[in-house]
Amino acid sequence: MYLTGLECPRCKEKHAADRLQNLCHCGSPLLVRYDIGALARDIDRDDVLRGRDDMWRFSSFLPVPEDKIVSLGEGMTPLYSLDGFAGEIGMDCITIKDEGYNPTGTFKSRGASCGISMAAHLGAETVAMPTAGNAGGAWSAYAARAGLDCVIAMPEDAPEITMKECALYGAETYLVRGLISDAGRIIGTACERYGWFDVSTLKEPYRIEGKKTMGLELAMQLDWDVPDAVVYPAGGGVGLIGIWKALEELELAGWIGPERPRMIAVQSEGCAPLVRAFEDGRTDSDFWEGAETIAGGIRVPKALGDFLVLEALYDSGGRAVEVSDDEIMDVLLTLARTDGSFICPEAAAAVAGVKRMREEGDLTRDDEVMVINTGSGLKYADLLEADLPVLDKEDEINVTPEGE
Ligand SMILES: *Cc1c(COP(=O)(O)O)cnc(C)c1O
Ligand SMILES: [Zn+2]
Repeated sequence: MYLTGLECPRCKEKHAADRLQNLCHCGSPLLVRYDIGALARDIDRDDVLRGRDDMWRFSSFLPVPEDKIVSLGEGMTPLYSLDGFAGEIGMDCITIKDEGYNPTGTFKSRGASCGISMAAHLGAETVAMPTAGNAGGAWSAYAARAGLDCVIAMPEDAPEITMKECALYGAETYLVRGLISDAGRIIGTACERYGWFDVSTLKEPYRIEGKKTMGLELAMQLDWDVPDAVVYPAGGGVGLIGIWKALEELELAGWIGPERPRMIAVQSEGCAPLVRAFEDGRTDSDFWEGAETIAGGIRVPKALGDFLVLEALYDSGGRAVEVSDDEIMDVLLTLARTDGSFICPEAAAAVAGVKRMREEGDLTRDDEVMVINTGSGLKYADLLEADLPVLDKEDEINVTPEGE
């Protein structure tokens, strides 16, 4: 264990990591700090190659004592290239890191595994959170595994499967006629009233550590190198902050060099607070009124960690990009045909962002781009239509020969 404590990235105040913590007094999320120097002296980067077959192979970069890990085998997701699609948009190398392989079908499993492990370890009994859907499914599953009670509130138009997941795992689940921000207010009030532990995005410090493992893994999978750009569909932006933090810690440990990918955050035109802030050169974002997009996971009107996302974009020479819902749907359908890959609409936004940037000349043919497919398309069956011919038992298939 190399955990040393918690630190506020805004006012720099230090907080203890041996009790349940939410935000800093100043309202900022807290970040977890480690003795990376000691870690680097004890552990060789190639030791992790022989580690567990899930994200906990990086447990030295994580805050959970070995015997307190609550795991369903999350992480160590595969990389594969989108050759068909890349060729169509004039690029040589677009790689997907496919988080759809996680236990609950999205990368939210990583944050939930780490967050629930710590919540249970530090004595929480009931955890509560607002969600766009996928986080609810993941935290419900890990809460069930840890024996914690779980309360979830989600927009009533969240993907149906995510509602059923929460109910299935036994979480007390509420549907809200409103956005994730409305669900957040309801949960916040209930946490104050009932003493539940608020595990909203970034309101506890450990979800980001779980998501950080995406960055640790991708460097390892590239043989301790980094791509030219990491493209991420940003809602709260936790995954992006996590990947950025991972690369910083890996460099401190001497496991990678000082090179960094450009960090690219992609949002939908119907909810693009980070894009607006980036374009105005600001370090925080405004609440986005009337948020609307088919990519529910990135329908976040105001991110608590917006300043951390924007800092990573500026520091990495990256940027924020917005795409339309039509482009998102078009890319989702196209990728299935060109590459046999059924990604979630959020990741389709990210790939559409790559296409935009290539068209604008902001990416070159030989830029190595890694897109995080944050979840499996299989969780989004409600977005698709398939109008198929139906045969009677005695019917035959009559294919019309071409040209007739
Ligand atoms: C939650 C979610 C996102 C956004 O994740 P953040 O790290 O909060 O920005 C993107 N895609 C999917 C599928 C999600 O569930
Ligand atoms: Zn602070």
